[in-house]
Amino acid sequence: MQAVLYWLKERLRDLWLWPLNLVRDFPARSGRLAQTILNGGRGLLGLPRLGWRAGQSGTARQALRRAGAWLHLLLVQLFDLVGGPELCQFVMHLGMHTTPLTADELAKAQALFGAKNLRYRDVRVAEGGILNFIFRHNGGLAFATWYTVHLPYVKGTAVSSRHNLPLLIHELTHVFQYHNVGSRYLGEAIYYLITTQRDCYRYGGQDGLQACWQQGQRFRQFNREQQAQIIQDYFTRLQANEDVAAYLPYVSQLQQRDL
Ligand SMILES: [Zn+2]
Repeated sequence: MQAVLYWLKERLRDLWLWPLNLVRDFPARSGRLAQTILNGGRGLLGLPRLGWRAGQSGTARQALRRAGAWLHLLLVQLFDLVGGPELCQFVMHLGMHTTPLTADELAKAQALFGAKNLRYRDVRVAEGGILNFIFRHNGGLAFATWYTVHLPYVKGTAVSSRHNLPLLIHELTHVFQYHNVGSRYLGEAIYYLITTQRDCYRYGGQDGLQACWQQGQRFRQFNREQQAQIIQDYFTRLQANEDVAAYLPYVSQLQQRDL
């Protein structure tokens, strides 16, 4: 009975987040959409010049790729504006067990991402239910959709991988991406997962990161999976009392929400 009541309470909470976020996220969501429409207008104005250069090889393909990226932005930002993330999470959670972050997880996440940079109490960790089916088919790969982190059982066991804090931090970085740039993070992460056949996490480790910093590369220029991996590795090293100097400038950019 208590489990049923808890489930019901959680689903009512999911449902309530739809109107709530429609209102409180309207400024950020409509702002992002307006920027995309503005950029699209500017792109159209630049078309005649592009047409003149169309004889050059690669220009048409480049324009097509840019148009595709723009259309992706337009669609996901419209989706965000009408509260698509909240509705999808409500439906998905119907078949899962969800819990908020524990006090320990909350404290560690806050210290890393910044106390006010995320709605930590809205984060849900989902386990079990239809997820068991999904993890059987995706090779047990944890993933994050909007404000939900989905964690698999440890391979070959019925033990939750929740004790794996670095993994949780990796997935929370995706939640952080969503909170600050919107649903585009999801399309971008999936794009790199597919086009690189899941080889999109590598950034060269500590040495690679140092070299990137010296070349002036910003955190926002890493792909979404590299960003999450950098933060995961930073957290792992921090817990092991290892040198994190190479990571600090990028953690700082993350905390400034420069994604
Ligand atoms: Zn990831």
